[in-house]
Amino acid sequence: MPLLIPSREIKLTTRTGVSVNRTLPHRELKMIGPWCFVDHFGPTEQTDGMVVAAHPHTGLQTVTWLLEGAIEHRDSIGSVQHISPGQLNLMTAGHGIAHSELSLTETKRLHAVQLWVALPDAARNVAPAFEHRDDLPVVLGSDWQATILVGEFLGQQAATKAFSPMVGVELRLEPNTEFRVQAAVGYEYGFLNVEGSFAVNGADVPLSGLYYLSSGEVDAEIVLKSGQSGAILLILGGEPFGEPILMWWNFIARTQADISQMREQWNRHREDPAASARFGSFPDQIGGWIPAPELPSVKLHAR
Ligand code: MN
Repeated sequence: MPLLIPSREIKLTTRTGVSVNRTLPHRELKMIGPWCFVDHFGPTEQTDGMVVAAHPHTGLQTVTWLLEGAIEHRDSIGSVQHISPGQLNLMTAGHGIAHSELSLTETKRLHAVQLWVALPDAARNVAPAFEHRDDLPVVLGSDWQATILVGEFLGQQAATKAFSPMVGVELRLEPNTEFRVQAAVGYEYGFLNVEGSFAVNGADVPLSGLYYLSSGEVDAEIVLKSGQSGAILLILGGEPFGEPILMWWNFIARTQADISQMREQWNRHREDPAASARFGSFPDQIGGWIPAPELPSVKLHAR
């Protein structure tokens, strides 16, 4: 059965107490292809709303996509990058990286999507890397616009670094517009409502909600139809990931021992040079860092 996941409100561990609308992971759906985390943030007039101090990641890529506003990214491999709407920030954590994110108040509103991509086993320990793309392919129709964030769509290929078969697209539809997605063979798909209203194969998707079609349910064409106010949506797809992953806090690993070691190394990175080698540190305007919480006393389960 297709699955409609309404978003749930999550308080972020930021200094401003803002919340995000989260759809993945969900108890009935852990991933769509390698996509394993979906947060929709705003729109809000609180342009200073995103103040996320230094924190680590492993085994994944973070994707930042802005619709409105501006964010400064800094990380432990020396990247300092401002991002604006229409651009993509992609951070490959691999073996380990630390970063911080700060929304800049030079604009009137802040509206963003943050996504994680799980790295397959063969790539999950690669050296950390950061990529900023302002050259994403854009395909224009008479009543729609598609920006390809990663992978291939409508015959256009984004140069964004991907480690498994996947696609990510921002699609803007004028009011009452039908768009037929040519599905890639073997892919599963999710459709995230970022603004406005639309239906997937006749099923309405609420704002910040995610509509999922498993690879067995995907026909050659998926029919999208926007409502009276038009729509902005994200298409997230990929081959089913096929590897169980262990996801805890900001880490993705395969075993609880690995997670425990990553947690320990991060929480000691300021006092112990050997422990800090994995994540490093860097200066930013925020200052401080976010410690990892206590591990739960129950065993973590791969999924
Ligand atoms: Mn992060």
